[in-house]
Amino acid sequence: MIRPQSVLTPRPAGLYCEPGDFYIDPVRPVDRAVITHGHADHARPGHGAVAATAPTLAIMAARYGADFAGSAQPLAYGEVWSRDGVEVSLAPAGHVLGSAQVVVRYRGLTLVVSGDYKRRADPTCAPFEPVPCDVFVTEATFGLPVFRHPPATEEVAKLLACVDQFPERTCLVGAYALGKAQRVITLLRAAGWERPIPIHGALARLNELYEDFGVALGPLAPAAAAATKDLAGAIVLAPPSALATPWARRFPDPVSAFASGWMRVRARARQRAVELPLIISDHADWDELTATITELSPGEVWITHGREEALARWCALEGIPARPLALVGYDEEED
Ligand SMILES: [Zn+2]
Ligand SMILES: [Zn+2]
Repeated sequence: MIRPQSVLTPRPAGLYCEPGDFYIDPVRPVDRAVITHGHADHARPGHGAVAATAPTLAIMAARYGADFAGSAQPLAYGEVWSRDGVEVSLAPAGHVLGSAQVVVRYRGLTLVVSGDYKRRADPTCAPFEPVPCDVFVTEATFGLPVFRHPPATEEVAKLLACVDQFPERTCLVGAYALGKAQRVITLLRAAGWERPIPIHGALARLNELYEDFGVALGPLAPAAAAATKDLAGAIVLAPPSALATPWARRFPDPVSAFASGWMRVRARARQRAVELPLIISDHADWDELTATITELSPGEVWITHGREEALARWCALEGIPARPLALVGYDEEED
């Protein structure tokens, strides 16, 4: 049987499929790319032909302009695209809207590239679909046993408790524009927060795109247009980078919050002067990573990026051969 290493090979530009002549999430411009999801480190402009889900293509067009690639081919989940005997299809990854695992089948071998993924419930995207495979190529952003994300509902309850406690202040929540902002909004709605949510202008376009794809976010309003009296007791969303800028000073005595899996690390919260760290992640935590590998029971695990060593060691102890690929160019942040 053909060796999996000759189907997918790590190269400086990214993970390359030689028999199909395409890259997955290349970090440099290439002729042909399959893109797992719209985060900027995975979805870059300037490729020749790009295949991805329709929402991912729409996200790329929103960020880079309609000419982000030479050509764009939308692939629905489960739709098979064949090239030189290689069958490629996409399966939901549960990470952000449109996010996909790439399933590559060639001469009886199945390799699944997870892209970024999570297993938690998230109404803003299709849930992760386990695909039986010979090789599971996984991310490991939170691949250390210390990373165990609490239920997101508990974190949002902390946010609502903060509003109750400080009705005269504004809760200013840093959330990345693609995925995290919409997840926080839907978590707030599910917790009964029905008031209009003032948002920073940099979040508007992707919020609209989510709504276009059927994700209801409820009433949102530009934070810039809000009257100061309406901002007391409000929950305002902004990109994390805006929290430390003059933009944030308009709010009455703001409580600075930040929604990220990295808020587990106290030093990071302190570094950013975050008063209310919210551990809400769109990546699998340690338990999700290991449970997914146990569930799939693949012949081999390859690890693309993140904390590779601990997960590789865990696999070895489970008797699963594991191989860190040490792919470079992917950020550990979520946008
Ligand atoms: Zn991502
Ligand atoms: Zn990533």
